[in-house]
Amino acid sequence: MKKVAVYKVDKWNPDVEVIKLAAKKIREGCLVAFPTETVYGLGANALDEEAVRKIFLAKGRPQDNPLIVHVASLEAAQKIAYCSQRALNLMKAFWPGPLTLVMKSKEIVPKITSGGLDTVAIRMPSHPVALALIEKSGIPIAAPSANTSGRPSPTNAEAVYDDLGDKIDVILDSGPTDVGVESTVIDVTGERVVLLRPGGLPVEALESFGERVILPEGLNRNERTDEKRRSPGTRYRHYAPSCKVLLWKEGEDWPELEVKKIGYLGIRKPPSSVGDDVILFESLEHYARGLFMALRYLEKRGVEVIVADYPKKEGLGLAIRDRLYRASLG
Ligand code: AMP
Ligand code: MG
Repeated sequence: MKKVAVYKVDKWNPDVEVIKLAAKKIREGCLVAFPTETVYGLGANALDEEAVRKIFLAKGRPQDNPLIVHVASLEAAQKIAYCSQRALNLMKAFWPGPLTLVMKSKEIVPKITSGGLDTVAIRMPSHPVALALIEKSGIPIAAPSANTSGRPSPTNAEAVYDDLGDKIDVILDSGPTDVGVESTVIDVTGERVVLLRPGGLPVEALESFGERVILPEGLNRNERTDEKRRSPGTRYRHYAPSCKVLLWKEGEDWPELEVKKIGYLGIRKPPSSVGDDVILFESLEHYARGLFMALRYLEKRGVEVIVADYPKKEGLGLAIRDRLYRASLG
């Protein structure tokens, strides 16, 4: 069994030697889990087909689900994708940060990285450790969330260790992540900006920048996206703990449950009958930050059902709903 090397790394002052070592591992084609501001990523050289294949194997990820490539500058993005003026404007406004742009891919990106598509998803994270690692390795780093496919995403190093400890080479541990949900993914290849996955950057932020964003069906307003332009990754059941997840929607009565041990997470207070396994958040921001950790925690507590407060479609509420909805399937 492989034994992963775990290094504590100060977020604001990353140890140069540790970053050098991790960057060397990336260049050698190994798997390195590292913190970003959204969730922990499982990184490999995005331009090395064999290295990227290891990501899919370690996670048990379907091969048609493309990866996000992480860069440390706009210039690095332009080396691997055709970036329109509009894309560059969005990058200048929102990078580094939780916004991923899907653009037409350049030849240099292996098909395995882009799930066989002719587009590639790119993001520049703001976490100092992520940026240091990308810069030091000198190559774009493909990194999906560092969890087993289908499980709640990892927002601390323990979660990465629990899922992948025996399958990867290095974990950089900088403590819990800030945003807590993955990046917002938009497609900027067409006439209009299409939201492929709601995430850490609220759609309202894009709209106040002057972009009219088309939301996928179900996330609604009135326009629909056709299925082909959706993100392959949003088709799967995902983010799910091993127990059942029930959604408690606004205006609905509390669900009748015939189980003894119930877990709860959300902003609204549950009825007092729920017991001790209750995690309350004071805002949508805190909810997003604590969502995956709470799911993993309640699962470890051995609850039979998790009831989750289903927030409104505003701000981070859209991303929280998406994750909870998919955790509740199946
Ligand atoms: P993850 O890395 O697990 O956080 O997921 C990345 C998300 O971005 C998934 O929903 C992918 O399907 C989506 N994605 C990545 N590349 C593309 C692409 N070229 N076109 C559409 N969606 C993409
Ligand atoms: Mg993921």
